[in-house]
Amino acid sequence: MAWDLSLRPLRSLTVKRRWLWGARVRPWLFGLWGILLMLGLLWGWPTPAQSPVATVATGRGGAVASVDDRATQIGLQVLQQGGNAVDAAVATAAALGVVEPFSAGIGGGGFMVIYNRATDTAVTLDGREEAPAAVTPNLFTDPDSATGAPLPFYPQRISSGLAVGVPGTPLNWATAVARYGTRPLGELLQPAIALAEEGFTVDATFAQQIERNRDRFAAFTSTRDLYLPQGEVPAVGSRFRNPDLARTYRQLADGGMNPFYRGEIAQAIAQTVQVPPTVADPPFRVWPGAMTLADLDRYEVRVRPAWETDYRGYHLYGMGLPSSGGITVGQILDLLETEALGAMDRAPALHRLLEAERLAFADRNTYLGDPEYVDVPLAGLTQPDYLAQRRTLIPTAGPPNEGEYVAPAGNPLPFQEDPSPSLTTLPTVALNFGPEGQSTTHLTVADAQGLMVSYTLTLESTGGSGIVVPGYGFILNNELTDFSTAVPGPNVPEPGKRPRSSMAPTIAIAPNGDGVAFGSPGGSTIITTVAAIAVNLVDFGMDLAGAIAAPRFSQRNGGLTLVETTLPGADTLAHHLWETGHKLTETDEIGAATGIFVKADGTFTAVAEPQRRGGGSAAALP
Ligand code: GLU
Repeated sequence: MAWDLSLRPLRSLTVKRRWLWGARVRPWLFGLWGILLMLGLLWGWPTPAQSPVATVATGRGGAVASVDDRATQIGLQVLQQGGNAVDAAVATAAALGVVEPFSAGIGGGGFMVIYNRATDTAVTLDGREEAPAAVTPNLFTDPDSATGAPLPFYPQRISSGLAVGVPGTPLNWATAVARYGTRPLGELLQPAIALAEEGFTVDATFAQQIERNRDRFAAFTSTRDLYLPQGEVPAVGSRFRNPDLARTYRQLADGGMNPFYRGEIAQAIAQTVQVPPTVADPPFRVWPGAMTLADLDRYEVRVRPAWETDYRGYHLYGMGLPSSGGITVGQILDLLETEALGAMDRAPALHRLLEAERLAFADRNTYLGDPEYVDVPLAGLTQPDYLAQRRTLIPTAGPPNEGEYVAPAGNPLPFQEDPSPSLTTLPTVALNFGPEGQSTTHLTVADAQGLMVSYTLTLESTGGSGIVVPGYGFILNNELTDFSTAVPGPNVPEPGKRPRSSMAPTIAIAPNGDGVAFGSPGGSTIITTVAAIAVNLVDFGMDLAGAIAAPRFSQRNGGLTLVETTLPGADTLAHHLWETGHKLTETDEIGAATGIFVKADGTFTAVAEPQRRGGGSAAALP
């Protein structure tokens, strides 16, 4: 099926315009505006949080899409001033670190995929957090447990110094701009510094994320003082300033990476991890970690080739290990390639997608981990005969055993055809399906010179470890909870290892030269969201706005299929799935994607969520 590149009729372009101003104002409206102005002054003017935000934007000069309008506009300004897509992505991310500090920030990590149309090549930056040298496979084993059980996930494991990995995000920004950008990092941080210093208006998402973390945040003096002033969640519409973060960003702007990885900030990070700043009587036991200055000093960003997959003539560039994102998205699509999904009714097509997800996750959970530690049988996992064998396990109707079925992993070893094989027996793997975060943020930028950037960054949980580095205004990640607590396996904690991720920033190039960059947050549902967006575009002929807005379903080989029931159309499809034997579980929201479509003729369409997480922001230069 052809990739439908045309925009849908205007009514399907979701543009949030709660207030009539900007481009929509017509001269004849000025009279009406006068009246509205008077009424507004009398009854209180709408807060800026309610101002109009576009979730679809088109233009020819470049585009940005993120979850937050303030960050998107900062990225757009960088493009307008002649910066390239990498410059704009870093400036956008730095702004998100201020206004979306619970999902993105310099205390965390992330993965960036950069595509260059001029050379038709892509590169990836792995800024994933890394385990300190003192980490062992029993990192999260409860020392007080006679049976060696892990610490409870919430709140002990996720709100601990144990969970903090060496942050990768600052060096990821510095590496991206030094290698592929055109502006100094110091310049790109300035708009975010101003935002942190002068403050911004608290919106509903910001307030809600603090409210949901209230107990954890109140356990740490630094976090309580910043995010719960006078013990309260900052009111929606109030002004929020983070002068400590402004100062920290300024240190990076002026001093580069040394202050963060081997200077004053490094010392503060190590101290915070080793002696978390808890209140006098925290409501739960806070376990310290063992990160040292040497761990921070040793940290490196890895510049790696992209993971490439072909799907019905489209070439996808994704994130390779230590993220399972690109490989597992690729395997799902490979398993579907022989099915004419576009010619089927939506329900049976969705069933096949979910079963392909189940099989791909079985392999992901068994084989994938940090490639610097694990011998991952990638040659076998992608070998056509292996995939053909796995395809036979996709039932045409209903999952085997009615629903809560967990598929075993395949055996790719006989298919390795690897000139230098080393794995000869199947690994023994203890599987556990622990809870995974639903946080993170994805941003997408494309410029008129042909660069596209797809960047997912995270602190792991919404609110990370919940621990603000005192005096520096940023939250430390709890990314090491992405390691598996079940030993042995490819994803057990080890010194210097990077936990397996699901982040899947993706860039796909169509046979006619059109390109699309996209990605999503959502823990391991990132993989199913990204695969579903690809199928929506390629097989179902949706435009990007439709592909992102469509209801989502997710099967991660955990038995139950997750269904996002809040969106139109989900119910009917869910009913069909249920009738064919899928066991379903409901959730309000899966992911909050962004993407940009770049037509070969130079037209950009930026798209953000119309609804999820309160809606995102898309902008394009004319
Ligand atoms: N830590 C997760 C990962 O790397 C992302 C967290 C999330 O999206 O909630 O896969």
